[in-house]
Amino acid sequence: MKLQSITMFLLLILASMASSALELTGDWQQGGVIIGKVSQGTLVEYRGKQLQISPAGEFVIGFGRDAEKTATIITIDRVGARQEHRFDVKARTYNIKKVTGVPQQTVEPDPAQVERAKREAQMAADARKGDLPLTFFAQKFEWPLVGPVTGVYGSQRFYNGVPNSPHYGVDIAKPAGTLVKAPAGGVVTLVHPDMFFSGGTLIIDHGHGLSSTFIHLSKILVKKGDDILQGQAIAQVGKTGRATGPHLDWRMNWFEERVDPQLLVDPMPSK
Ligand SMILES: [Zn+2]
Repeated sequence: MKLQSITMFLLLILASMASSALELTGDWQQGGVIIGKVSQGTLVEYRGKQLQISPAGEFVIGFGRDAEKTATIITIDRVGARQEHRFDVKARTYNIKKVTGVPQQTVEPDPAQVERAKREAQMAADARKGDLPLTFFAQKFEWPLVGPVTGVYGSQRFYNGVPNSPHYGVDIAKPAGTLVKAPAGGVVTLVHPDMFFSGGTLIIDHGHGLSSTFIHLSKILVKKGDDILQGQAIAQVGKTGRATGPHLDWRMNWFEERVDPQLLVDPMPSK
């Protein structure tokens, strides 16, 4: 080999060593969110999709409630070297309640209500589709309000062996009118005053597919398209839609995957 090609070869090795650096923080468990960092020019693939990388090299991945046991992240560095990184994703035990011997539901659902609920679910899904170039996803999240946690992510009830859809949010019981603050910055992608199931509904996109949904609100203080800062008052607690009492139900998504908001914040303050 000529000296020139040897030098080139060494440079390539050094370049690939430098750019294969992959830093990851977060919770490797179902419902968890992982924040990653790669060096400039590195591409990241996950489940066959190329992820958006911020100018600082950050990206985000979220695991659904029933995510598979392993996650594979592929990095492709500037010289095109592909590297597979495999990680274990811990399975969780959810709070499952089995209720038997209850009278069978005999009420036929109203077709108009079913149609409405379907339409509204599609609106929410559309609002979570964006892969916005915002980097608030990498911020340390804060509780939208302080209060008793009365419902958690992943819990599910079975009636006479038939599963209800799992609960994906974290419920915080507070009187109607209590201010809800933005857990992180973002942009408002959906405001709806009264959906069939979720009542007053607000979605804030934090960037790269990570979003927060707040439901059962009595009042929404922001408009679609508004830029939101962490800690900003965005809404008021209510019991609109199918809610038995006033509380905030805070849900989070990574695109269509439901992730657990509680994994992104510190333990709820006791006061
Ligand atoms: Zn709830």
